[in-house]
Amino acid sequence: MVVPMTDLGSEYRSLKTEIHGAIDRVLESGLYVLGEELEAFEEAFARYVGAGYAIGVGSGTAALHLALAALDLSPEDEVITVPNTDTPTAAAVTHAGAKVVLSDTTEDSFTMDPVRLEEAITPRTRVIIPVHLFGHPADLDPIRAIADRHGIVLLEDSALAVGAEYRGVKTGTFGPLGCFSLAPGKILGGYGDGGIVVTDDPELAHRVRVIRNYGHAPGQKLSGQDLTGGHGWTVLEEGYNQRLDTLQAAILAAKLPTLEDRIAGRRRAARLYSEAFAGTPVRPVYEAPWARHVYFAYNVRVPAAVRDEARAHLTASGIATRLYYNPPLHLHQAYRWMGLSAGSLPVAEQTAAEMIGLPCFPQITDSQVERAAATLVEFFF
Ligand SMILES: *Cc1c(COP(=O)(O)O)cnc(C)c1O
Repeated sequence: MVVPMTDLGSEYRSLKTEIHGAIDRVLESGLYVLGEELEAFEEAFARYVGAGYAIGVGSGTAALHLALAALDLSPEDEVITVPNTDTPTAAAVTHAGAKVVLSDTTEDSFTMDPVRLEEAITPRTRVIIPVHLFGHPADLDPIRAIADRHGIVLLEDSALAVGAEYRGVKTGTFGPLGCFSLAPGKILGGYGDGGIVVTDDPELAHRVRVIRNYGHAPGQKLSGQDLTGGHGWTVLEEGYNQRLDTLQAAILAAKLPTLEDRIAGRRRAARLYSEAFAGTPVRPVYEAPWARHVYFAYNVRVPAAVRDEARAHLTASGIATRLYYNPPLHLHQAYRWMGLSAGSLPVAEQTAAEMIGLPCFPQITDSQVERAAATLVEFFF
């Protein structure tokens, strides 16, 4: 039995009618940039996460970049995030003209450690970006309390965590700005790049809407001939071309109503994995009592000394695996300027060395999960 890492093709086939309906509607409309289809998705997404506003942008990276750009940072400003994340979390800070600072993670959930965070704060800290890694929320109450106490903006990187909850509330809504990726393969993904920023603040919503569309004033009517996204010729500031494609928005709107079913499929697979690993040398994924994990991936931990061998055993048996963020950001050439050598962020480094990402996707069958779990456990006996 072969167990793949994911199966986006089968997801497409199960929603083929809805997706083709959405694509045809957009193509027939002649409106391919901005417009009502995009607005309808933005409203549906805002409702789903419980935010006042949602602004569709070009990617998760763009979501982080534009959200930070809306805060008008300067080169001395510091933005704290974690080392075990995708490079865009840090790159967006650099693109927004500020300085990225890394703070270590917790040992159980791979997310921002509030104790280490407090130590990393300086008078120059302007923004804190917790990452809800692999779909598990960071411990948002203490993180938000620290942000509030120091007058710092909380900006969530929820790129991997559409639908995740902290104490029953959807991630992305705890600070003034939340960011999501809608790339293929993320929890809610289109068939190309996409991202979205959420906020309850009408001024921040307006600002992000303006800078995603060249800096033009929003709200101008489009004509069928207009390929540039608006006759708006009231230029408020210099912005970017970072709109969510209308075609992708229509596809995402067609997928949103069945998102909860797909999350349920991921959670079911995770439960089966956790049951299979109980009492074995394989450490199952932690889900905090206050968390609703959406399991973008199911990352077990095994002793670092045998991790690669265990992984090779899975590969040889037809079980796909993936290593995420190994090694963490600060150990890459691109971040050498930080001067952080091996051992400087020990928890993130240790967890990265122990992790194996196992297949965990909505359509995975019980027997595929059982097979993958049994193959890994048998390596230890
Ligand atoms: C995927 C991802 C991003 C970037 O999203 P893109 O849509 O790929 O640009 C940012 N942060 C994290 C944690 C991610 O996993």
